[in-house]
Amino acid sequence: MLNLILFGPPGSGKGTQAERLVQRFSLEHVSTGNILRLCRRAAAGDAAARSDCPPALLDQADRIAAIMDRGELVPDDLVLGLVGDVLAGIPADRGGWLLDGFPRTVPQAEGLVALIGERGLAAPAVVVIEVPDAEIVRRLSGRLVCDRCQAVTVAGEHAEGDPCPACGEGRLVVRDDDRPETVRRRLAVYRAQTEPALAVLRRHYRVVTVDGTGDPDAVAERIAAGLAER
Ligand code: AMP
Repeated sequence: MLNLILFGPPGSGKGTQAERLVQRFSLEHVSTGNILRLCRRAAAGDAAARSDCPPALLDQADRIAAIMDRGELVPDDLVLGLVGDVLAGIPADRGGWLLDGFPRTVPQAEGLVALIGERGLAAPAVVVIEVPDAEIVRRLSGRLVCDRCQAVTVAGEHAEGDPCPACGEGRLVVRDDDRPETVRRRLAVYRAQTEPALAVLRRHYRVVTVDGTGDPDAVAERIAAGLAER
């Protein structure tokens, strides 16, 4: 059983590394950002997203959408409840889980530590991907995302509106929260609220910190090597 918590600023390649870790170790991928984006699409009237947004969040979908569009954080109680439900629903035959984008605040981190203790879950390892701010702004201003499968591609190779090279069904769009103003806001939120959450986890779990610059394959190898160390 391998439980992981993946930390990194927006644009650190966290999503890409999450996918690799999930495949490599057969983990259940729990991305609060992806789940909340479904709720935002439900708020915008997308019928398919409506059935995928967890029922407990559906009547909050408009409020969630507005918060996300400002680059701010959704309230702790909503997100903690969401993660508690999702973890409870993971089939026992999975290799473990990977939390991506959660916890992001001190109360979320404390809530998670309590939940793991109460339910007797295996202590997770925390993986931190580090990338300098200037590199993050450069990366995010060139990022395109599929509006269907959420695959990330780089502008330059593809243009906004192109069909998605991964699933072939969706269109490539600039994610609303990747607009420059919102990126700066998300980075500020990461430094102010999410780094202190990491300090809480550090007191309870093993933390593996890796350099997130360079080729994604190299970053993946750094993570695997860090996890293999004892
Ligand atoms: P992400 O894709 O993880 O960067 O998440 C996108 C947006 O979803 C964030 O900017 C927040 O508005 C919201 N969000 C995702 N995860 C959380 C969380 N753990 N706590 C609060 N808000 C979150």
